[in-house]
Amino acid sequence: MIIDLRTIFVTGALTCFIIGTMQLMTFATGRFTRSPVWWGVSSLCIGAGLLGTAFRGAIPDILSIEFANTIMLAGCLLLLFGIRHFAGRELNWFGLGVVLLGIWTLLALSPGTEGYSTRVMVVATVMALCDAAIVREAVRLGRKERLRSAWLLAILFAPTVVIYAGRIALAALDQVGTTLFPPDPGATGWLAATGVAFIILRGQALLLLATERSDRILATLARRDPLTGAMNRSGLEQWLARQSRGERQAALLLVDIDHFKTLNDTLGHAAGDRILRLFADAVREQLRSTDILARQGGDEFAIILPDVGAREAVRVAERLRGAFRDKLADLAEIRLQLTLSIGVAEIELGGRELDDLLVEADEALYRAKRLGRDRVQAQLKPAA
Ligand code: GH3
Ligand code: MG
Repeated sequence: MIIDLRTIFVTGALTCFIIGTMQLMTFATGRFTRSPVWWGVSSLCIGAGLLGTAFRGAIPDILSIEFANTIMLAGCLLLLFGIRHFAGRELNWFGLGVVLLGIWTLLALSPGTEGYSTRVMVVATVMALCDAAIVREAVRLGRKERLRSAWLLAILFAPTVVIYAGRIALAALDQVGTTLFPPDPGATGWLAATGVAFIILRGQALLLLATERSDRILATLARRDPLTGAMNRSGLEQWLARQSRGERQAALLLVDIDHFKTLNDTLGHAAGDRILRLFADAVREQLRSTDILARQGGDEFAIILPDVGAREAVRVAERLRGAFRDKLADLAEIRLQLTLSIGVAEIELGGRELDDLLVEADEALYRAKRLGRDRVQAQLKPAA
């Protein structure tokens, strides 16, 4: 079977137009950042380039060669820019302009059939470098943000780096013929047909990337208290549900700020909010990365210290009181004496409901309040 390359190019162009429109529509939903705009414009540019190329011979060379190739490569570079934008990296628009001008000039200096190998080399080099840079960005995203779709993206862009590298080598050896559309394109026809499938897969992978990150952000927001950045109750319940069943010991601290209401009443709600944030910062500075800080509501917080016994947890609780006191001392405008009451209990993680786990620490906290506040009380289990 002989594959008609011009038909494949037109099919590729239409596919790019559809995917580009979808990417722009994705942005229009308002759910994502601006990156899908770059991806959409990039797809439209690549589509325009493929369409212009398909009409080579039927329209002036300046349109089917210089313009078509430059706009297609602009599309490839915009895709790279879109992914860099998604990764929060700098975009060098001046550099992009210079590169595109250079490409146009090189193509214009290599006209006709005799310039074909040089043109192949220029186009394949830019595409190979572009795809390699996209693979690098995708791997970085996969590592840094643990986005699975970023790895999928890297897998989808890596093969073309090798294919373009092969094409550069063939062009350097003058082995690419003298025209893009020979009567029998052979393997090139099959490669181009596979390219259309890749265009679809890549478009899909990009949308997956945006969706995965947006879902991640929403899930994080749903689990966090926006004021203090601590977990909220639902986040804590989800964390507990993920703990494997078994005898994993932990310490639970229930912390309540003493006379917090007075602070709100005298200095206002905003000052109260500030103290809640300051408290959370002070605690986070003292905890290990595996410890959990959750806001139970109001001025009450739960802290879980995995693999820590009650006696050690009492020492941690005293340290937290000291850290909070030191932070307050730095705050010149709030002269109130704010202290902490803390109840400590030993718990076993895994398969337990939050309310059951809280009972003993709650009793200890209540005792700390009753005994005059500003202290740590623990429900110590008798030594075995
Ligand atoms: P106690 O020593 O017994 O703990 O007394 P308290 O004054 O701290 O009283 P309590 O813990 O019962 O009250 C907590 C107060 O926290 C009540 C509420 O007005 C206030 N509060 C709850 N949520 C917020 C918040 O998000 N921001 C601010 N600024 N205040 C809050
Ligand atoms: Mg309180």
